[in-house]
Amino acid sequence: MKIYNTLTKSKQEWKPLEPGKVKMYVCGPTVYNYIHIGNARPMVVFDTVRRYFEYKGYQVNYVSNFTDVDDKIIKRAIEEGVDADTISKRYIAECKKDMEGLHVRPATKHPLATEEIDGMLEMIQTLIEKGYAYVAADGTVYYRTRKFQEYGKLSHKNIDDLQAGHREIQVTGSDGKEDALDFVLWKPKKEGEPYWTSPWCDGRPGWHIECSVMAKKYLGEEIDIHAGGEDLIFPHHENEIAQSEACNGKTFAVYWMHNAFLNIDNKKMSKSAGNFFTVREISEKVDLQVIRFFMLSAHYRSPLNFSADLVEASKNGLERIVTSVEHLNYLLENGQNGKITAEEEQMLAEAEEFVKKYEAAMEDDFNTADAIAALFELVKYSNTHASGENTKTYLKKLKEKILVLCEILGIEAEKEQDCLDAEVEALIAERTAAKKEKNFARADEIRSQLLEMGIELKDTREGVQWKRI
Ligand code: AMP
Ligand code: ZN
Repeated sequence: MKIYNTLTKSKQEWKPLEPGKVKMYVCGPTVYNYIHIGNARPMVVFDTVRRYFEYKGYQVNYVSNFTDVDDKIIKRAIEEGVDADTISKRYIAECKKDMEGLHVRPATKHPLATEEIDGMLEMIQTLIEKGYAYVAADGTVYYRTRKFQEYGKLSHKNIDDLQAGHREIQVTGSDGKEDALDFVLWKPKKEGEPYWTSPWCDGRPGWHIECSVMAKKYLGEEIDIHAGGEDLIFPHHENEIAQSEACNGKTFAVYWMHNAFLNIDNKKMSKSAGNFFTVREISEKVDLQVIRFFMLSAHYRSPLNFSADLVEASKNGLERIVTSVEHLNYLLENGQNGKITAEEEQMLAEAEEFVKKYEAAMEDDFNTADAIAALFELVKYSNTHASGENTKTYLKKLKEKILVLCEILGIEAEKEQDCLDAEVEALIAERTAAKKEKNFARADEIRSQLLEMGIELKDTREGVQWKRI
């Protein structure tokens, strides 16, 4: 398996730190509002990475934080006249609902910044003791960026170029920094803001320190994968490396994975330009599973354009898979009971080739676009190589292949099926009986009732077939 590593700018062979285990940290959202569909991209992408590792038999420890103390949260709290905690708790709950809709499984652990302050104080103290941090006159603690020799290694930036870029800040020089590149680890409280006591001043942490601390606490000093959107490469992840590696004296993460941005109508998402959607808004129009499928239709390192046409295409693609599984379920009802035939064994071997193709795509830096293409080939194969003549064993195995590949992508191809099936089948049986008794009024009534439930009937020579519309 190969993974593109932002750190080395190359695809590298996957090798876990501990055999059979994956330690993975994904930077989560700042919770001051509903998450937008851009925020959903890393969630969906890295949930899929996790699912693939699990499919391969790894035990994945997946940690993703919620930043629940931040300027934006405080601003929102002041606007609403409530405390910051009310805002962050509300939007964490809402974010979890959106994640569920997107089939993003809960992390092994979702730490909250406000619950990890002790760990942050400890790490900051160590950095001060090691000379990597200093306290300014007002109690602000800064990281001494130049002291960390490898600063810039992730974003491939030269520290002197950065210095030039920061000249303006340096000239103003009002914040007690020794150097313009230094960043905040701890800052003094402002009136009306949440704060914690510390040896340096009453205040709150800077943003970057929380991830270094949480990753260490829940995954250890060395982790396999650290991930997030590409906007986090600099400065957030660069600063996390500086903090963790200076504090622990060990390489922080082996693989750094970053997803490209999601744009709307080929433009950067922005509130002011009005091209901005929350996951919640979208969920009112489209099944979020379609959005998930759409997000995976492109490779995670390619920019992805969100447009009604592309979402519609994903909806149709998903429908093809669901219909194919439904057809297999229908055939299974009437399939043959005998032993699987040699010809069927051969067909399963052919179908397995598409599974191999899918795996090869996933193992080439999680190329979900190609993996989905292989899944479609399998679906097509199933549509043309399954009939009422086949044994149930064969049909079941074929269906299982499709479902397993869907599961890795977080797609439920049999969604709602379980609860709907029995009801639909019962109504169809009643309709067949009504027709036999020449009670056509009742038969029509049942057809309309099913239509309202989104089920369309088709009378065929093989019996009544139904599909979701
Ligand atoms: P934030 O709440 O801004 O820290 O973002 C949470 C996560 O969403 C981070 O991993 C960001 O990189 C990611 N993200 C934000 N906007 C987008 C976007 N338009 N496309 C893809 N990822 C994004
Ligand atoms: Zn982070």
